[in-house]
Amino acid sequence: MAKKPPFVAGNWKMHMTIPEAKDLATAVVRASMELPEAEIVLAPPFTALSEVFKIVEESAVQLAAQNLHGEDRGAFTGEVSAPLLKDAGCQYVIIGHSERRQFFGETDAGVNKKISAALKSGVIPIVCIGETPAERERGETMAVVSRQLEGGLEGIALEGFEPMIIAYEPVWAIGTGKTASPAQAEEVHAHIRQDLTRRYGNGPAEYAIILYGGSVKPANAFALLSEKNIDGFLVGGASLEAESFIEIVREAIKAYKEKK
Ligand code: PEP
Repeated sequence: MAKKPPFVAGNWKMHMTIPEAKDLATAVVRASMELPEAEIVLAPPFTALSEVFKIVEESAVQLAAQNLHGEDRGAFTGEVSAPLLKDAGCQYVIIGHSERRQFFGETDAGVNKKISAALKSGVIPIVCIGETPAERERGETMAVVSRQLEGGLEGIALEGFEPMIIAYEPVWAIGTGKTASPAQAEEVHAHIRQDLTRRYGNGPAEYAIILYGGSVKPANAFALLSEKNIDGFLVGGASLEAESFIEIVREAIKAYKEKK
């Protein structure tokens, strides 16, 4: 599976009944046929994974889960492991989303364990990092994302890193309608790529896909993706309707073609 930019993933969070998920996935698959230039990924809630898999299976649209447990199996009531996600048809899994860090106590060490578990089962991690509003105000943004990267990627060898996707999601921009300006986002993306270069070398860092997430909409997608180091988006709210999600994909393709 060759990952390619522009890469646009929709995180449906705790939304979508199974019939709603099927309708949305069907609409995205239909539209995706005219958008082969982009890699499109859908992350439904666990309950809808299998049904959405049946819809995307024969298309280029890929399936992601929103979380996983760091162990492969065992007495962990309510948890879902990487082998179970693989079995449900997931190619990707979102790890370390700020909502999990904020509300469920996810740590860099926990993220690291989940990354290893996902890779072991052949599920590709989409690893989220990003600073809180207070951390940005204190001028700690770069230190925070570096620390999250370092902790999350600890002990992950190049072959594990290569398929992986990194998503920079400033916490103050998620679900708030406050998007980072293209310049603000680019500054952090360039910093992330530098960190990845130090860790994995020039080539792998250059080809790494680094997404931006935080109130991405059709109206701001083009300007954001026109920045050198922004390769795609992780979209929350605007992914819940096919029309806005697909429009973001279209804008991303346009911007990517222009900057190539
Ligand atoms: C997200 O949840 O990853 C996200 C970016 O949400 P939103 O687009 O709604 O800000």
